[in-house]
Amino acid sequence: MNYTEIIERFRQQRGYSRLEPRAALFDMDGTLYDSMPHHARAWMEMCREAGFEAEPMDFFMAEGRTGADTIEMLMMRSRGQHATPADVEHFYSIKSANFRSMPPVELMPGAPAVVQACIDAGMATVLVTGSGQTSLIERLSRDYPGAFGLKVSAREVAHGKPAPEPYLKAMEMAGVEPWQAIVVENAPLGVRSGVAAGIFTIGVATGPMPASALAEAGATLVFDSMPACAQAMPQLLRCLK
Ligand code: CA
Repeated sequence: MNYTEIIERFRQQRGYSRLEPRAALFDMDGTLYDSMPHHARAWMEMCREAGFEAEPMDFFMAEGRTGADTIEMLMMRSRGQHATPADVEHFYSIKSANFRSMPPVELMPGAPAVVQACIDAGMATVLVTGSGQTSLIERLSRDYPGAFGLKVSAREVAHGKPAPEPYLKAMEMAGVEPWQAIVVENAPLGVRSGVAAGIFTIGVATGPMPASALAEAGATLVFDSMPACAQAMPQLLRCLK
């Protein structure tokens, strides 16, 4: 299927009379930064210390959730108890310290070109992350200059991904409607969040999750890698107009 057909099918399914991309909403971990292996390791080290049962794939599956939601999952599974706010603060601070002690995270190859293609097309670019990891959020202005003045992070939402709230908030910030936005996501829960918000959602497989998991989560369009997405982006944006 070519882009025009994919776009037309999406428009009809959603009942939008037209699409007019004015804002690109970007996930951060695993999309803008190749940070997911670091996160999985940081969570695993915290779990070993705390005695939570876990394996690295758990954290790729849970990717996109807030730290609080992930800690709730670990507490319920290993201890059969809900996480209190104090538990969340305690365990998340250990996980964050582990993350900070690791070597610096690399930019996701191809991601700067995807962001630039959106800027060149005259779109606003907005960060939408479940992360409360200030160390990476602070790097954004250096790594993606001028791109992410608008940000939705874990602190701004009551219900994180896969709920639509993060993307609804981002559209409110950018002053756009669902038919005026696109989402770029690498994880199934993030894709579900974008789709639930009614947005044209591009899934990019950048880690151990297969591209098919993104299609199953409802992605409008799926790429096997970020460089493949970067190569396609200018043409895709021309078709969207
Ligand atoms: Ca992600």
